[in-house]
Amino acid sequence: MGEDVEALKRRLPLLEYLRQYNWVGQPVGRSEFVGLCPLHEETRPSFYVNTRKDVFYCHGCGQGGDLIRFIQLSRHLSFRQSLACLDTQATLVDDSSAVLEKAADFYQQQLDHYPEAMRYLNQRGLYDPALIGEFEIGYAPGGSLRRHLTAQGYSFDLLRQVGLINVNGSDAFYQRIVFPLRQGEHIVNLYGRSIGTAFAHRFLPGTKGGLYAWEKVRHCPEVILVEGLFDYAVLRQAGFYNVTCSLGTHLNKDQFLELCEGPRTVYLTFDVDANQSGQQAAVQLALRLSAHGIAARRVLLPQGHDPNSFFVQGGNAPQFQSLLEATQP
Ligand SMILES: [Zn+2]
Repeated sequence: MGEDVEALKRRLPLLEYLRQYNWVGQPVGRSEFVGLCPLHEETRPSFYVNTRKDVFYCHGCGQGGDLIRFIQLSRHLSFRQSLACLDTQATLVDDSSAVLEKAADFYQQQLDHYPEAMRYLNQRGLYDPALIGEFEIGYAPGGSLRRHLTAQGYSFDLLRQVGLINVNGSDAFYQRIVFPLRQGEHIVNLYGRSIGTAFAHRFLPGTKGGLYAWEKVRHCPEVILVEGLFDYAVLRQAGFYNVTCSLGTHLNKDQFLELCEGPRTVYLTFDVDANQSGQQAAVQLALRLSAHGIAARRVLLPQGHDPNSFFVQGGNAPQFQSLLEATQP
């Protein structure tokens, strides 16, 4: 019994469980997060999660323990009922994560079979096969994923739940370049960029996770933040390693807190578009970051450009570097 409980807890860490319920924790130290207590009403965060010991403690209500204890308290269940509840949830998480891996693998295998997909990547300035592999970029032709996954034993219900197929049973992604979005080891979502006339950007339902590939740059004292994955890709290809991407100009709480983890300078490199929405978002984000003690600088690309079009239309690394150096605090 004791061993089973430990094994069950390892399948779904406390922090991951809490995040599924939209709990937001700010990192404090190496393996601790603090946020508002889900077990009692409060306005100042006093609920601590220790990821190394996989336990919580609230200085407000004095409750503490492991995930099973948390489920008992938050759902008013017995120990045994909490175990069953955790088992169901851990199974769903494992299944979703596994099916997203399979879908991403399948899309990656398709990339070479559809010349239009590779042509699109080239048009967007992305050539390097090593980077295309590193980003795990794939192609969703549409109309074949459901058959592929159900043949491997994944249920229609699971595919629906994860959002890979629509209510009517057809593939959600159709003629789209696909980037898997990972949080730690797990794929939490897929981003699909239409190469046709359909709405350009699409995600599966649920969280986009934190900043793209944040693990790679979290220790950098200077970070370049872009809004799109194709901006990210060309900057990486041009030799800028300290880049991350927020998948849009509106950062979710996790993404914002990641930027605020430690002292650093953030170079905001959003689109310079005619309606100014990218720059307005950058100004507001710069203010919010400054209020949290993070230095923010706005990179001003030529009118009408984003980092992707800047490089596609002949811009090079030294030119981009001088734009970074020309920024004002
Ligand atoms: Zn509490």
